[in-house]
Amino acid sequence: MSIFSKIANGEIPSYKCAENEEFYAFLDINPLVKGHTLVIPRREVDYIFDMEDSELARFEVFAKQVAIAIKAAFPCVKVGQAVLGLEVPHAHIHLVPMQSEKDMNFANPKLSLSTEEMQAIASKIYQEFTKA
Ligand code: AMP
Repeated sequence: MSIFSKIANGEIPSYKCAENEEFYAFLDINPLVKGHTLVIPRREVDYIFDMEDSELARFEVFAKQVAIAIKAAFPCVKVGQAVLGLEVPHAHIHLVPMQSEKDMNFANPKLSLSTEEMQAIASKIYQEFTKA
């Protein structure tokens, strides 16, 4: 089972931002900026483009709903989306609130935030997500 499957089923703790029956969103533990979130399917699949068309479409719509919640919680110019998947073999979309394109540079140093700060960020996004 992938580390992200264990996160989605609660075996490994995470900072939950949003969820439904099929998908789960949580904070990246090495955030580029405050609000950097990962969105995953609960179903284990490594490569995003191996997902069947309708599942991929639902995944993207869920990511859109999470992006709306992130933007409401952390005002930004736009929420950027990126798919890398070179480290963890479980499909995931990075959602990053951007003030400029520099915020999407994955070579940037990552923020080091306390557990309390991470919890507060996740709660803010979760509140916005559940408002909709
Ligand atoms: P990549 O597969 O290249 O998209 O990178 C995987 C991303 O997952 C990195 O940004 C990591 O910081 C993040 N990550 C890895 N393990 C965890 C975890 N346990 N909780 C939250 N984020 C994680």
